[in-house]
Amino acid sequence: MDFSSKLLENAVNEVSRLPGIGKRTALRLVLHLLKQPTEHTKYLTEALSVLRNEVKSCKKCHNISDTILCEICANPNRHTEVVCVVEDIRDVMAIENTAQFKGLYHVLGGKISPIEGIGPQNLQIESLVEKVRNGEVKELIFALSSTMEGDTTNFYIYKQIEKYNITTSTIARGISVGDELEYADEVTLGRSIVNRIPFENSLKA
Ligand SMILES: [Zn+2]
Repeated sequence: MDFSSKLLENAVNEVSRLPGIGKRTALRLVLHLLKQPTEHTKYLTEALSVLRNEVKSCKKCHNISDTILCEICANPNRHTEVVCVVEDIRDVMAIENTAQFKGLYHVLGGKISPIEGIGPQNLQIESLVEKVRNGEVKELIFALSSTMEGDTTNFYIYKQIEKYNITTSTIARGISVGDELEYADEVTLGRSIVNRIPFENSLKA
């Protein structure tokens, strides 16, 4: 791509680093911003830099939060002894949308993936095991996507906490397209949380 402006080229290069954005799309977005009032670019860059500088990870569940404890963990009406294990904030949002779950979450921050070099030590697994060890958790619900990485992660955690004698369950498999939680429709996802099955049963399937 030949640019007549170095400034334009730099902006396009930065935008095209985002996932799923090629050079052409980046150029379209940048040209769009140039046509808008200057404030729009200012609001966009400010929102991103404030987010980057001020966002926190909830001390208890590791969810993205504005405060030390996220709104869910700080809510006295939630059942603290039921913890749903998810990969990231998108899963929390999807499950919250169903309004079927009143427990807390534990956000792992990814899945075990040897190919991508992500091991258990790169995820928030130890803090989860610690919660179980402390007796804070009576039921753990595995809600990772049913991919090989999701299954590996579930099984790894299950092996770590098996001896503590708590209830473990998993949301029913075969949910919606692609098996990614974020794509499951609310009704299906809500139903699979209500009708969760004992984790041991999922191993035999
Ligand atoms: Zn939290």
